Amino acid sequence: MAMRIGLGDDIHALCEGTGIPLGGVMLPCNRACRAVSDGDVVLHALTDALLGGLALGDIGERYPEAAVAKGEESRRFVAETMALLRERGARVHNVDCTVYLERPRLGGMKTAIRDNLSRLLGIDAGSVGVKAKTAEGFGAVGRGEAVAARVAVLIEVDE
Ligand code: MG
Repeated sequence: MAMRIGLGDDIHALCEGTGIPLGGVMLPCNRACRAVSDGDVVLHALTDALLGGLALGDIGERYPEAAVAKGEESRRFVAETMALLRERGARVHNVDCTVYLERPRLGGMKTAIRDNLSRLLGIDAGSVGVKAKTAEGFGAVGRGEAVAARVAVLIEVDE
């Protein structure tokens, strides 16, 4: 068995709205993501991490804007990428995510995100790390203009 590491990043601009989707869970607030899809930075970064771990390109190649429905839920990107992994005899060992958002604070929502990601990836919740950070007022995230995520995955591949 071989181990492969994958890394993914994503950022989306925020605008007025009724909530920010993070890892398939809606954070109710007066902001929303500006995106073609639902703009879920956690699921986009996770998709890129899964693709990167197996050197399968990136989310922009596989899902160009023209192939994404307006407001589409991003869980499809993760589900289809997981199918690609399974075809290659690969599975996720563990995943670690950081969400960068100035406000509101994620608080107890981190547990709901962890549980949803564990379902999407077919692994125990104990193998899913979800962390939240502000940007201490710096940059686009710090000014409340954007939300970002970074995800690392470890992938087991049968040889
Ligand atoms: Mg994105």
